Amino acid sequence: MGLWLLGTSGAVPDPQRDYVSLVVEYAGRLILMEAGGSPLHRLGRTGLDPMGLEGVFLSHRHPDHLSGLPVLLMGLWLRGRAHPLWIAGPEDVMERARALLELFEWQSWHGMFPVNWRPIPLEHGAVVEAAGGIRLIAAPVSHSVPTLALRMELPEGVAAYSADTAPCPEMIQLARGADVLIHEATGSYPGHTPPEGAGWVAREAGVQRLVLVHVPPEVNVEEWQARARTVFAGPVEIGRDGMRVL
Ligand SMILES: [Zn+2]
Repeated sequence: MGLWLLGTSGAVPDPQRDYVSLVVEYAGRLILMEAGGSPLHRLGRTGLDPMGLEGVFLSHRHPDHLSGLPVLLMGLWLRGRAHPLWIAGPEDVMERARALLELFEWQSWHGMFPVNWRPIPLEHGAVVEAAGGIRLIAAPVSHSVPTLALRMELPEGVAAYSADTAPCPEMIQLARGADVLIHEATGSYPGHTPPEGAGWVAREAGVQRLVLVHVPPEVNVEEWQARARTVFAGPVEIGRDGMRVL
């Protein structure tokens, strides 16, 4: 079991970093968080077998988190997947994801495996998945569109993932006592977080470690790390694509 960062960039990827996404592995099964870029490529680079995918969680409807879903499903279908896949996220994301797939006439893909849609209410503590010794709990955070952050309780420890958000009390509550907080650090923009803000959430939630993701390409990462450290006394890392966090 474990948790990896597949991608760590913000809305603009660069040669080192693809769109932010994470994967949980448990008993040979995988749950993918976010589907920007090419999830199959990223899973393959990390050495995880995409055929073990059980479900996909989509935090919100922005394209850097959602646009790779059709090629993910097409790839799994072409590789002969038969068992169902669940897709979870806010209701408006489920609607857009279906519309995106309809654009590619996915209903006509012969022998396509079943997809179970799981709209998750925008409520603190909504359960996304609880099986095989893991629990994924969501909470709404503060972004320009409806967005769910995630708390991931695994045998290895507890991780919280902010998705895209401004620093907010809901994220502090969701991340309370986590071993690692994976927080966006886009900068001082509405609905986003500067590094000091990520440090504040980490400090107030009492987490052990902070990993910054969704960092713009033009940023000096040492400076970003140092700014988070002015607020949070624990270890601060800049997320790297392929990095194992738990
Ligand atoms: Zn966004």
